[in-house]
Amino acid sequence: MKKEKISIIVPCYNEEESLPIVYKELNKVSKEMSYINFEYLFIDDGSKDKTLNILRKLAKKDKRVRYISFSRNFGKESGMYAGLENVTGDYVAIMDADNQDPPNMLKIMYFSIKEEGYDCAALCSPNYFGYNKIRKFFTKVWYNIFGKISSTYQVPGARDFRLMKRKMVNSIIKMQEYNRYSKGIFSFVGFKTKWIDYNIPNRIAGTSKFNFWKLFKYGIEGIIAFSTAPLVMSAIVGLIFCLIAFAAIILIITKTLIYGDPVNGWPSLVCIIIFVSGVQLFFLGVIGMYISRLYLEVKQRPKYIISETEKDDRND
Ligand code: UDP
Ligand code: MG
Repeated sequence: MKKEKISIIVPCYNEEESLPIVYKELNKVSKEMSYINFEYLFIDDGSKDKTLNILRKLAKKDKRVRYISFSRNFGKESGMYAGLENVTGDYVAIMDADNQDPPNMLKIMYFSIKEEGYDCAALCSPNYFGYNKIRKFFTKVWYNIFGKISSTYQVPGARDFRLMKRKMVNSIIKMQEYNRYSKGIFSFVGFKTKWIDYNIPNRIAGTSKFNFWKLFKYGIEGIIAFSTAPLVMSAIVGLIFCLIAFAAIILIITKTLIYGDPVNGWPSLVCIIIFVSGVQLFFLGVIGMYISRLYLEVKQRPKYIISETEKDDRND
């Protein structure tokens, strides 16, 4: 019988320290799962360190190793998409290059799909173990908000680490959007997913590429991509303000008819004007965010640009 093939996508950005360790770990797993063919596709996301050199060397000595090197840093989302578009396996895994997604979990994931009839096995850390206190707090708040305002269900603490059947991968590739929020996309395409709890280990080497600001922007991206609630909210707030204004008009007319027309109250008027214009500008900004995503989608820019792959190197 023909051996099945698992492709492993590893997005890498400045991972020279952890890459060799992850490669070793992957090799250990592939030895233990000798009944499977493996393909490793590393995505060098415009790294400025020796990541690409390491990948060239690995690809030379190991035919299972493939790599795609981007012309600049396009972000992890583009890396994952490029990986999904270019792998050839019957099953596809996405895994970080820092051992926080431990390769040895692949065995459990594979058996969940193979024997329990799932289409996908994914890892989550619902207690956000491994995150620092501030990240834990904001991640929890974000998942709560997302859960309330989006119809796309999001498992708390979901990681990108997952093993999927080819049919699921093909559906994800069909979702061509430029502003990608993969956790939402994985959930949107459906399919039976088994969630496996685990405690996220610390990075084996190097540092996190996601600071607070980057995560915040990513969170906003997710909300804009999978919820229109902020737009509905702006309409509701607008309506509430109209009702308040209507009540205030009646109150002022009645007061003037009873007590005459003393010229006072301008400080409160200034406060009201500033407050209302603030609310207006805020919601204009919210609408602007949706329009800007629309603008980027319409331009249909490529999600990534390749500067080199292992094929260039092997043809030399
Ligand atoms: N990564 C990437 N492009 C980027 C930032 C990160 O390909 O612009 C990769 C990174 O090399 C790692 C994965 O995405 O394999 C997750 O990044 P990181 O470990 O820094 O994030 P964290 O685990 O702290 O959320
Ligand atoms: Mg990490």
